[in-house]
Amino acid sequence: MTLATGTDRAETRHELAGTAYDLLVIGGGILGTSVTWMAAQAGLRVAMVDAGDFAGATSSASSKLVHGGLRYLQTGNVRLVAENHRERRALASDIAPHLVKPLTFVVPIYKGGPHGAAKLGAGVFLYSALSVFGDGMGRVITPQQALAKVPALRSEGLRAAAVYGDHQMNDSRVAVMTVRAAVDAGAVVLNHAEVVGLRRTGGTVTGADLRDRLDGTEFGVSARLVLNATGPWVDHLRRMEDPSAAPSIRLSKGAHLVLRRQEPWKAALTTPIDKYRVSFAIPWEDHLLLGTTDEAYDGDPAAVRATEADIAQILDEAGHSVRDSQLRRADITYAFAGLRVLPGGPGQVAAAKRETVVTSGSGGMLSVAGGKWTTYRHIGRHVLDTLAHLPGQPLGDDLADILPAVPLPGLASPDAVAMRLWTDRDPGTRMDPLVARHLATHYGSIAFDLARLIREDPALGERIHPDGPDIWAQAVYARDREWAATVDDVVRRRTTLTVRGLDTPDVRARIEKLLG
Ligand SMILES: Cc1cc2nc3c(=O)[nH]c(=O)nc-3n(C[C@H](O)[C@H](O)[C@H](O)COP(=O)(O)OP(=O)(O)OC[C@H]3O[C@@H](n4cnc5c(N)ncnc54)[C@H](O)[C@@H]3O)c2cc1C
Repeated sequence: MTLATGTDRAETRHELAGTAYDLLVIGGGILGTSVTWMAAQAGLRVAMVDAGDFAGATSSASSKLVHGGLRYLQTGNVRLVAENHRERRALASDIAPHLVKPLTFVVPIYKGGPHGAAKLGAGVFLYSALSVFGDGMGRVITPQQALAKVPALRSEGLRAAAVYGDHQMNDSRVAVMTVRAAVDAGAVVLNHAEVVGLRRTGGTVTGADLRDRLDGTEFGVSARLVLNATGPWVDHLRRMEDPSAAPSIRLSKGAHLVLRRQEPWKAALTTPIDKYRVSFAIPWEDHLLLGTTDEAYDGDPAAVRATEADIAQILDEAGHSVRDSQLRRADITYAFAGLRVLPGGPGQVAAAKRETVVTSGSGGMLSVAGGKWTTYRHIGRHVLDTLAHLPGQPLGDDLADILPAVPLPGLASPDAVAMRLWTDRDPGTRMDPLVARHLATHYGSIAFDLARLIREDPALGERIHPDGPDIWAQAVYARDREWAATVDDVVRRRTTLTVRGLDTPDVRARIEKLLG
């Protein structure tokens, strides 16, 4: 095992404490991970730490969409949509085609709904035009055509539907693959390591004091520049730098539900609820993902949860377009919530712009928050560019140019990987095609490393729970190569056990034993 696999936390702590870094990134959500990846590609010595697991907060609580953001047309932000589309298509074609997959979206148009067919038809046409019709042309279809795509669609009062193309992903898996890309590029990372204070030289922030949340060890990291990428905690860190720092952001809670699906869905539903808000019903991980809410939040970010009121609201709003038989509470396998970081200032949270905020503090710490998962590479590059051009150039002027399109690890056609996983074994001992597909679409060609583990120990090819496609080789790989240190890291973010409702006490106990 090498240090990069994260198996030896003490060794990583030792390296972090003993190196003078160019950049310390606090926060291993997708924003911090992206900046870390870009900075390492530019030749900087960079370290990234997270108080919990990588992508353990907002970045694993998204709607899992890699999208242009149809909603933003409503607020007139055409430039943002075009930029999002460009990134979406780059991710799906060059960067992570093994992890990001196309999905058709249907917008049902009901009698008395907030938008008419002409307006929505024009909207989806413009939306598809802004991605140069790369996913076909947005258009209006008949109720029958819509029902053929989504049999659970409510047909009473359905006048027509608009269709458009976007993409989806498993956000936690894309995040862990991006952490791996950053480490491959030379970064040093540690999860479950909380920044409890900032170090200063003169008045300038030049590092941080940390506490390992797993064993309580305290240590420090020194760096020429510190980046605060702590998402909902961004102002908490800014106040560590300057206790009088004014709030820079406000938070809005978004909750989601995952339900067992009664029948196959060939498309997702985007149902307008009012002028700004939509309700999504998205086929995801063989289940149905419903959401999301959008409500101002000013509690402790660590305490955010999907409440009973959120669950009722999500089911109620989904009921505008989804039949009751697909919305039974007994079918809920998981509920989760995350916090959108919105630029500070007055106004309704649902109508607020989802843009990235970069601020510089009195001690020279840079803070970044907000923006979309979809544009994470773009945000990472933008932040790196800002860091490179800071007054006084704390990072020097020796940043190398980064390549325009470095793929995520495991880049491969998921169809080809699934076929090879299946045909590589003799008939009779072949991998279940569903498991092969699951591995191919969550690991790309890294699935061959898992197949190797199974060859060495066939028991690792067994399913962790009989009702889901996750296998024991994934748990071993998560522990040894993907920095999984707690049961939740494995069941919630490296595999799909929790979202499928399969993280039973027995499963959790066996994984705990595996983690030692
Ligand atoms: C409900 C919802 C749905 C969304 N859906 C989509 C979508 O479908 N598509 C899309 O493109 N975007 C979506 N987004 C936006 C996207 O999820 C976010 O922009 C993105 O995840 C933000 O990532 P982040 O790294 O800034 O924050 P986070 O993921 O929250 O990361 C911040 C990290 O900082 C760490 N941290 C905090 N304090 C400390 C400390 N003291 N020391 C060390 N670490 C610390 C935390 O543990 C956390 O992991 C959605 C957002 C929400 C809330």
